[in-house]
Amino acid sequence: MNQQEIDWYSLTAIKVYNLPEGWQYKVIDKTKGPAGYIWLEGYVSTTYKRGEKKGQPRRTSKQGLWIKQADIQQYQKEWETLTGKCSQCNGTGKLLQAISPDEEAYKECTACNATGKPQ
Ligand SMILES: [Zn+2]
Repeated sequence: MNQQEIDWYSLTAIKVYNLPEGWQYKVIDKTKGPAGYIWLEGYVSTTYKRGEKKGQPRRTSKQGLWIKQADIQQYQKEWETLTGKCSQCNGTGKLLQAISPDEEAYKECTACNATGKPQ
């Protein structure tokens, strides 16, 4: 996951299941459920604020759940209406194709024809 593209899976899960902000999926399985459903497992990653484990990673709201492809699409549409940006490229008109230590390669976003605006 890079900073440019939006994690729609996690955002949809947060919205549909009323999860705390910052919840992020770590496991994704598009094959095991019925058609149109995606299985996610994730958690909110924080650190212990005090005590013996202070500073160590802490995982809360650990949960596995199903989200519907249709819910993601609906959420993307709402977001596009609200922001006026293409949901696939976050309004930049390009998508990160590959990343290596010394270069980032981009390709034009086909969802918005590289305009950055919802079509
Ligand atoms: Zn786009």
